Amino acid sequence: MKICIIGNGLTSLVLAKNLAKKKIFVDIIYEHHHKESPSARTIGITNDNFKFLKDLFPKIKNRSFSIKEIKVFNHNDLDNALLNFSSKNMNQMYMFKYHEIYNHILKDIKNFKNLNKIKKKLKTLDLNNLSKKYDLIIDTNLQNKFSTKNFYKKIKKDYFSKAYVTIMYHDKIENKVARQVFTKMGPIAFLPISNDSTSIVISHKVSIKDLDRSYIEKLIIKYNKFYKTLKFSNIQSFNLKFSLLKSYYSKNILAFGDKLHQIHPLAGQGFNMNIRDIKYLSNEIDNKISLGLLIDKTVLKEFENRRKSNNTVFAGAIDFIYEFFQLESRSPKIFSKKLFKLLNNSKLLTKYGSIIADKGI
Ligand SMILES: Cc1cc2nc3c(=O)[nH]c(=O)nc-3n(C[C@H](O)[C@H](O)[C@H](O)COP(=O)(O)OP(=O)(O)OC[C@H]3O[C@@H](n4cnc5c(N)ncnc54)[C@H](O)[C@@H]3O)c2cc1C
Repeated sequence: MKICIIGNGLTSLVLAKNLAKKKIFVDIIYEHHHKESPSARTIGITNDNFKFLKDLFPKIKNRSFSIKEIKVFNHNDLDNALLNFSSKNMNQMYMFKYHEIYNHILKDIKNFKNLNKIKKKLKTLDLNNLSKKYDLIIDTNLQNKFSTKNFYKKIKKDYFSKAYVTIMYHDKIENKVARQVFTKMGPIAFLPISNDSTSIVISHKVSIKDLDRSYIEKLIIKYNKFYKTLKFSNIQSFNLKFSLLKSYYSKNILAFGDKLHQIHPLAGQGFNMNIRDIKYLSNEIDNKISLGLLIDKTVLKEFENRRKSNNTVFAGAIDFIYEFFQLESRSPKIFSKKLFKLLNNSKLLTKYGSIIADKGI
């Protein structure tokens, strides 16, 4: 059995190891050698997905920092959380520096059996031809002629916002609580990555110019109630878009990763959604192998049937949360206080909200 994965982002590398472990021959076709340089970007992995990654990459735990509690605030009351997610039995999230997790995974798969890397120009790949050589092609890049022609219909939305990320260094504390503050300009997340550093992700409506460093630092200081003696790393920015492809596959070619579905980073769920897709695809392939069946486009049909509805509802829910808080931050304080008291007291909501964020739908 032979599967080709196009692209060498985080999703491709994780999927490649998962498939190669099943003794499937995997070719990764990539364009740029991609060792990530140190940056301010971080990524949070949910408890359930962290277990999955740990099985594939046993030493990954050494790179992580666990978060026990998540608190959600409105900008006009930083003393009382509107929502609170915690559990005695599990951590809520595991934080990684993006370059550390990427480079760890890249190194891990370097000499892995059955896994081969091929450097090629991705725009000029001939997928009609390649599809005859492989049982499946999984495209996380979608820049070639076949994919631009077959995977272009999508539900799209531009948030007209950018995410600004930085690492905030501060006095040492027991740093186990992640906080999200919803402001009129968008959410600001404080995500612990060690006892003396915290990742900051600010989503902010775009203006004509990029926000400057001193404005961003002032914004963080304004909404910081929890850390002392602050210093900041460099600041990086990302455009924020929502997109969901309408067709997941064509022939034996599957669109995958962020190019299949891209969501707002407010809940730290983009890569977590991709891991859930990998898990489903992996189980589907295991089922076929155990029954002695071929790995062919029927796997992709089943993948689309099952994952499309789940991903659409999940991505829609994240978008709803974004829009809800945008509206909420403009509504009378008394209304929102009452509403959130009701939501927070609802054991069902906090329990199932936590489970859905961890395991998906
Ligand atoms: C600020 C921010 C914070 C986030 N935080 C979290 C979090 O806490 N938890 C979480 O689960 N997710 C988070 N995400 C989402 C997460 O980073 C992505 O889901 C994940 O990195 C996507 O990986 P991928 O391999 O599918 O896609 P990509 O990294 O986009 O890679 C796919 C392929 O496309 C290529 N490619 C990508 N961009 C270009 C380009 N511009 N030109 C040419 N080729 C390109 C790559 O080289 C690769 O071959 C966050 C995203 C942002 C922007």
